[in-house]
Amino acid sequence: MFKRGLFKTLFQKVDQLVTGRGRIDEELFEELEEALIGSDLNIHTTIRVMEELRNAVRDERLKDGQDVKERLKTFLTSALVSGEGASPLAVSPQAPTVYLVVGVNGVGKTTTIAKLAYKLKREGNKVIVAAADTFRAAAVDQLALWGERIGVDVVKGREGADPSAVVFDAMQAAVSRKADYLIIDTAGRLHNKVNLMEELKKINRIVMRDRNNRPADETLLVLDATTGQNAVNQAKEFKAAVNITGLVLAKLDGTARGGIVITIKDELGVPIKLVGTGEKPEDLEVFDPSAFVEALFE
Ligand code: GDP
Repeated sequence: MFKRGLFKTLFQKVDQLVTGRGRIDEELFEELEEALIGSDLNIHTTIRVMEELRNAVRDERLKDGQDVKERLKTFLTSALVSGEGASPLAVSPQAPTVYLVVGVNGVGKTTTIAKLAYKLKREGNKVIVAAADTFRAAAVDQLALWGERIGVDVVKGREGADPSAVVFDAMQAAVSRKADYLIIDTAGRLHNKVNLMEELKKINRIVMRDRNNRPADETLLVLDATTGQNAVNQAKEFKAAVNITGLVLAKLDGTARGGIVITIKDELGVPIKLVGTGEKPEDLEVFDPSAFVEALFE
């Protein structure tokens, strides 16, 4: 289970602000606003939530700080769950289902791929991983190690090999070994948008050859939840270059600033599909907003 209390810090602060307060005034609203921004909630959602709070205080003539706190919880909750429920990973009608994984170094991409492979394997699937991030020898080695640890085949090329060659081999292996899933670690980075687009296009061309012209079923972008607004900016840049179909929010266990989850939902329009909640193979969960909110305040 993911770590509870992503909004615990925020609500401890809110508690301090409302307790023993004689009146609910503009000063309190401003302090609450600051606390929300401090939890990585973006400015426009903060403004909206604060407006809802002000209206509630006025219309319901709230006088008690605890009531203000409860309303704030309600508004944050609805900001998170409004709209869709969980967005499951797409599955191909014809095996193998193919996932491309992109992300900036250090966000947790390699670990996420290993965790995802392990999760699918535990669900009874045959999984193959393609170590096509050939620009980073360490990434290839690290994936190979993970493969041994979780009992999943990793197809790799030589250092500096063309990623497409690795994907080609991996697709062949996936088809001949009747794999249900192929997860491709790409060198998808942001140094150069044109390169990023070209690389993913090239990989997709190979994927399509063996799959009746279907490109990868998902292009997943891994983000580091502990980096707040930075993660949001990264996602915007990736989105501008390639068609990201889902987000993985890694290291959610490492932050007490739950606002990031709402911020991403509001600003990106790409669903969070998985969350990383630790460094062990089993620390990856399907993201379900309604289940998530229940844990937010505990
Ligand atoms: P990459 O450079 O993007 O491939 O990142 P890695 O997969 O090597 O991860 C970088 C560091 O983050 C490693 O120390 C991982 O153990 C750690 N990490 C990855 N995912 C998580 C997570 O969900 N929670 C925590 N606490 N650490 C994580």
